[in-house]
Amino acid sequence: MQTVLITGANRGLGLGFCKQYAEAGWRVIATCRCPDEANGLHELALRYAHLQVYGLDVSDFSQIDALSRALSDSSIDVLINNAGIYTDISGKGFGQLDYQAWSSAFWVNSIAPVKLAEAFLPQIKRSSKKLIVAISSLMGSMTDNTSGGSLQYRSSKAGLNAAMKSLAIDLGSENIGVLVLHPGWVRTDMGGQNALIDVEESVTGMRRCIDAFSSAQSGSFLKFDASELPW
Ligand code: NDP
Repeated sequence: MQTVLITGANRGLGLGFCKQYAEAGWRVIATCRCPDEANGLHELALRYAHLQVYGLDVSDFSQIDALSRALSDSSIDVLINNAGIYTDISGKGFGQLDYQAWSSAFWVNSIAPVKLAEAFLPQIKRSSKKLIVAISSLMGSMTDNTSGGSLQYRSSKAGLNAAMKSLAIDLGSENIGVLVLHPGWVRTDMGGQNALIDVEESVTGMRRCIDAFSSAQSGSFLKFDASELPW
């Protein structure tokens, strides 16, 4: 049985990943900030014994270390860094920037995924697939940025991309792969109801990218439909 660890698993894309991986028979380590309020996850856990829910606020690195210790005997085939925040608030753009919020965006979106990779490296090394996935965004692409704005989110996802590209190179010798994925514009709390696709379509596409992953693709930036994106 293969194992996936997912952050931000209680709603949106994270919950979608949990549902599809559990249905496919994977062991799912579903992590979220407030397990007591994660009703969708508990419904899945009742249906699938191989889905377990753990509390994890990715901004609290002592919680990441504690969870890694608690799961020290596990192997993790795929680590999905999904948890993310969008902190750019309208009316608080350049000239009125909230620098504390910007720092939180960096902590959660760019730095925590690296900490998770570091903390769970032993479990990833022990697995057969050995893959670290970062759910990034096309908004982190320099090439694609023709409309400006969203300084905090764009820069935090660009930082995530840069860090993951380096990890792909640095961990290549240990046969650990790194894949950066753009989920598309998806109808979730973050994407809003006008977004183009639903969670099921996005997650189905991203799971296909993960299933088809080969080491030659490590360090790539792919859209959910497997097309390559510009950095
Ligand atoms: P949602 O806002 O629906 O969900 C975000 C998830 O992240 C929630 O589970 C939330 O938990 C969790 N989260 C936020 N901060 C933390 C934290 N400190 N610790 C643990 N969990 C946390 O967003 P989506 O599902 O749409 O987004 C998932 C990922 O996809 C994000 O990284 C996002 O940037 C990316 N993305 C989404 C797009 C879209 O169109 N939807 C487009 C491009 C990228 P809680 O409920 O506790 O707040």
